[in-house]
Amino acid sequence: MTVFAETYPVNAQNLAEKSLQGEELTREEALAVLNWPADDILTLMQGAFRVRQEYFGKRVKLNFLLNVQSGICPEDCGYCSQSRVSDAPVDKYKLMGPDDILEAAEKAIANKATRLCMVASMRGPTDKDVNSVAAAIRQVKSTYPQLELCACLGLLKDGQAERLEAAGVTAYNHNLNTSERHYDDVCSTHTFADRLDTVSKVQKAGISACSGALFGMSETDEDILEVGQRLREMQVESIPVNFLVPVPGTPFVAKQELTPVQCLRILALFRFLNPRATLRIAGGRELHLRSLQPLGLFAANSIFVGDYLTTEGQAANLDIEMIRDLGFELEGEIPGAGAAETALSERVKFTHRG
Ligand code: SF4
Repeated sequence: MTVFAETYPVNAQNLAEKSLQGEELTREEALAVLNWPADDILTLMQGAFRVRQEYFGKRVKLNFLLNVQSGICPEDCGYCSQSRVSDAPVDKYKLMGPDDILEAAEKAIANKATRLCMVASMRGPTDKDVNSVAAAIRQVKSTYPQLELCACLGLLKDGQAERLEAAGVTAYNHNLNTSERHYDDVCSTHTFADRLDTVSKVQKAGISACSGALFGMSETDEDILEVGQRLREMQVESIPVNFLVPVPGTPFVAKQELTPVQCLRILALFRFLNPRATLRIAGGRELHLRSLQPLGLFAANSIFVGDYLTTEGQAANLDIEMIRDLGFELEGEIPGAGAAETALSERVKFTHRG
């Protein structure tokens, strides 16, 4: 391996030290991370791991995704298979009721997840939708009080975040996805400012904000840096990092821009910029990180187990095996998970019957 430590302009351990001291990386340092020499990538991940280890040790948090309303969104996000401009053959159904969500919660726990993420394809919820999700949250919380619940229902109106908070929701997810400059290239039916507004409403209501990004949409290094800095400024506690899965039938199907090493650089940058945030490797992990998936966990401390909203993830037993092979450990298994160990060899998919 080439030794870059003396010749490359930036030292990964110095970046780790800055991050741990609460200092923001300079633009030059951040761009150096995004262009880190591929054959010295272990040095970069070692620096990111130093920060990850400080706040999260070797723990890995598992999340379980549930598509609570599928395929009927009126928005036009170019990456999304559930948008009105997508011809992708995805399931279409309206908002699930509390019983279905409770059943999914059981499955999440059986597969060692500690957070259930309830995602609805919609511009934003009606008050009736909020009531329905709030009822589900109460039911799941009374049955599984340790399970964290995250709602993702799109743009919120005044007062809706407070009602979700009163029901006991742990977090609300609303991704910024990309930079403000690039946002109009991705979606025309709502703005970057609309997204910021919802994240702000969530934080003001006292709910933990989960907000992240999606890469592989022709963004520049400056765009990657800007969205990472925005999330730092907003002090979001949870950051999902998605890598575009180009789904046939979506406007962005032809975008094939990522490499496994570039995904690692992005994860390392996000760790340095957001040292205390739970960094979740989300959609596209298997497709884009491929055989380098384990290295992603040296920056990130969380992954999604099972399938994504409309695309398949790898079997849950392989995720658990990867974590254990690394010598890492699962975060806070909820009682009842161990009994389902044998089910881990099966693909984890919650099938909505409605
Ligand atoms: S708002 Fe959400 S569900 Fe709707 S098209 Fe955009 S990403 Fe897809």
